Amino acid sequence: MVVILLGPPGVGKGTQAVRLADATRGEHISTGDLLRAARREGTELGQKAQGYMDAGELVPDDLILDLVRDHLTGVAAEASILFDGFPRTIAQANRLDAVLSDVGRQVDRVVLLQASNETLLKRLSGRRSCSECGAVFNIYFNDSQGDGICDRCGGPLLHRIDDEPDTVAHRLQVYEEQTAPLVAHYQAHAAGLVRVEAGRGTEEVFVDFRAAVG
Ligand code: AMP
Repeated sequence: MVVILLGPPGVGKGTQAVRLADATRGEHISTGDLLRAARREGTELGQKAQGYMDAGELVPDDLILDLVRDHLTGVAAEASILFDGFPRTIAQANRLDAVLSDVGRQVDRVVLLQASNETLLKRLSGRRSCSECGAVFNIYFNDSQGDGICDRCGGPLLHRIDDEPDTVAHRLQVYEEQTAPLVAHYQAHAAGLVRVEAGRGTEEVFVDFRAAVG
């Protein structure tokens, strides 16, 4: 099964995707996490992506597709895959269909997480991410036990540069312009699209998210 998790920045895609992948032993593929890992490792891709990410712009489609294709070569043919933050443009969606079709697979489900702009802004301003393992906390909803220290690995928690207020506003605008058209795209796609209201607690959202994936 191949699932796509769509939704604006801050809606909780990463949190829900990690939970589902844990519950189903599926492969969670977050292009944002892969790009941040490439930056930490100082790879050529990480260096190319850095300026776009810090400015809240999308990284060019060619770089993203290479990244996804490379990553998929290490995934077992029968593994469930959960894409989080990918695709983000219609071109990426079309190219994903082609990549999957080459290995006899297809997009099976698309879930849209939605929440008010007020909720998104609060989640993004409160988000703190571990600079070592990528674990995500929130000072309002789900704080770490140690002050500024990751509960999972002990690394330092940072506020992402792209979660600063001006960049957040730009990312929401980029979402509306370049990613929101995927909603209509997938409504018309064989996979269809299920909406889940995500402006609630993690547990409540997860129940509906899991049901939507089926
Ligand atoms: P995320 O963690 O999903 O919010 O992604 C953080 C940043 O990585 C985004 O603001 C983009 O700069 C970049 N990024 C992640 N996924 C994609 C994608 N599928 N296409 C283009 N840029 C991406």
